[in-house]
Amino acid sequence: MGIVFGPVPSRRLGVSLGVNNIPVKICTYSCVYCQIGRTIKMIGERKAFYEPFQIRTEVSNVLRKLSKENIHVDYISFVPDGEPTLDKNLGKEIELLRDFEIPVAVLTNSSLLSREDVQNDLFEADLVSLKIDAVTEEIWKKVDRPLGTLDIGEILEGIKTFTRNFKGKVITETMLINSIDYKEEAEKIAGFIAHLNVNEVYVAIPTRPPAEKWVKPPPEEVINYVYQKFAGHIGESKVKLLTAFEGTSFYPPGSIENALLEITSVHPMREDAVKELLEKRGVDWSFVEKMLKQGELIEIEYLGRKYYMRKLPTRR
Ligand code: SF4
Repeated sequence: MGIVFGPVPSRRLGVSLGVNNIPVKICTYSCVYCQIGRTIKMIGERKAFYEPFQIRTEVSNVLRKLSKENIHVDYISFVPDGEPTLDKNLGKEIELLRDFEIPVAVLTNSSLLSREDVQNDLFEADLVSLKIDAVTEEIWKKVDRPLGTLDIGEILEGIKTFTRNFKGKVITETMLINSIDYKEEAEKIAGFIAHLNVNEVYVAIPTRPPAEKWVKPPPEEVINYVYQKFAGHIGESKVKLLTAFEGTSFYPPGSIENALLEITSVHPMREDAVKELLEKRGVDWSFVEKMLKQGELIEIEYLGRKYYMRKLPTRR
């Protein structure tokens, strides 16, 4: 991958032009689910990797080409093959990209957020996505495999300070994997995020080949459990699932199957909400039964109520 890539469609960012400001793969973490593979070089100190003007020139060249083809870009996004805040020129680079009058996003793993210089650089962005996979040290170490000098307490404090002072949009992303007990952790993460000033909260699952072969998405029951805990603490309107189904469906747009699949891939739907949707379309419950039988939907019980979720591709 070069310094600039895409644009790629992203549910969080719309049409996103990627900036890869970190050479492969330098990171403060070596997440077990990382789609780029194991971290080659773990560092905790910030460094300069590219000339900020080189990044500006490359972005400018791509934007010129896209504009000739009438392709609109929603965000210029720092989503490198490593941790973007390790780049000590990040603030300068964002400042230079401002010339293009396109919002700038940074997707960070949050590990360096306790540093004032990192916070100041991120203040330059319009949107910052923060990874919050765990708030408990043991789970954080198991999932994200951080550099030994990092401290989860300091990171969480950094996240609190940053979100209090940042004027742009904040989203969080929590990746769920198998073999982790989320029973208490879901409540703790949700309680932590609920006190932050955030716009959207994503619960994600691995959808691409992970660094470690044993990593899989957790069962739908666990995803629903975490979703419900998050929705309860943070509010349903802010919490969304990020699954493999980003706007893809083989049913025609507007069809009831399509509507059910699209909604349930983002929010598990309660039985009464499904019934209401069916009623509005003049369709009876046998539709849902058919989709359950075909393995497109799954029924899950939670606190005595039934929920419907789109079945994960790995289980179909
Ligand atoms: S923080 Fe991101 S780049 Fe780094 S190991 Fe984790 S998933 Fe990969």
